[in-house]
Amino acid sequence: MVIDCDANATYAPDERIRGVITSCLLDLGNPSSLHRGGQRAKAVIEESRASVRELVGAHTADTVIFTSGATEANNTILATFGKLGTTISSRIEHPCVLGPLKRLEAAGHKVICVSPDAHGAITPESVAAVVTADTRLVSIMAANNEVGVINQLRDIALVVRAVAPHAVIHSDAAQLLGKGAVNMYDMDVDVLTLSAHKIGALSGTGAIVARQGIEIEPLIVGGPQEGKLRGGTENVLGVAVFGAVARMIVEDISHRCEAMSRVRDAFELLIKKEISGAEINGAEATRLPNTSSVYLPGVRADDLIVAMDLERILISSGAACSSGKPEPSHVLLAMGQDEERVRSTIRVSFRADMPEAEVPRIVRALSGAVERMRKVAPKR
Ligand code: PLP
Repeated sequence: MVIDCDANATYAPDERIRGVITSCLLDLGNPSSLHRGGQRAKAVIEESRASVRELVGAHTADTVIFTSGATEANNTILATFGKLGTTISSRIEHPCVLGPLKRLEAAGHKVICVSPDAHGAITPESVAAVVTADTRLVSIMAANNEVGVINQLRDIALVVRAVAPHAVIHSDAAQLLGKGAVNMYDMDVDVLTLSAHKIGALSGTGAIVARQGIEIEPLIVGGPQEGKLRGGTENVLGVAVFGAVARMIVEDISHRCEAMSRVRDAFELLIKKEISGAEINGAEATRLPNTSSVYLPGVRADDLIVAMDLERILISSGAACSSGKPEPSHVLLAMGQDEERVRSTIRVSFRADMPEAEVPRIVRALSGAVERMRKVAPKR
């Protein structure tokens, strides 16, 4: 059996959504059609919209736009608000935020990217140092996909709103969703972007949730779908499953988080005991309950991923999207780590249904592989 310790890349759906998938495939038409199949699909989409609102503490009048994922959602938000004035973001954002930021800069718009502290967090002080009355967009991720550090959005919003009351505050919540409390009003953000496959729904689905009155420009122009804010026939199956999983998470978020942190804590304790020199990045910061970024001196993370794969244990060396390409993690580099350390860092991210009893096997496999690699590694 494969042990999936790469839940931050994609959280594979569990058994409970099989029924939703089958009934959608057999029963639903095009939501724009007036016949019964179409109207059933439309009703399913509206039900999912309400469930996603509830999942993030949004109000009934707030906007939910379904997209093809967090990548499209983030591109939409940065394209809409990035051209209105200065944008503040951070160096640890996902490439689907960093890419649009580069585009904005190339088009002549001002972009300021703040650095994280040594633990990986974006501090309110770092944002306070650069925010001005010209700031129109602040885009800071809710939790980082590689190190798992959770940013204190409410404190960041406080400093932003004091100086730039017209700025839109956006947060990419792709990683926090399903692994911590997400309430856009408690976080005091105007816009959240979400990814369905990070919570056990299907890839190719995501959402923008915006407070009432926040006007979003469609990135994809076509038919009148999604209130004319995202053209194209809706991904009915993806949206239906997103809604169903959202309802499950609302029910059991605290149980999920507890289960994740129990396994993660046991893993970190054991790995530090069994592998000499092992260090947890961001250990001092508030972190996602399921993520461990582990520095293992004397090994190459990429070799370790392959060795673990042979043992049927899935891990990663950072963001899934950047695994397989040789550049070291931009997140760890931004935290001030040197390249050698970055290349020796793995990411282990647990599912809520991972049995704690698997932890010794995972650590044994890691420790065996590290020992073998250290024996053959040239002395530095
Ligand atoms: N934002 C973060 C923080 C992510 O971790 C990811 C995926 O790894 C994305 C955005 C992209 O999400 P999607 O795959 O839905 O486009």
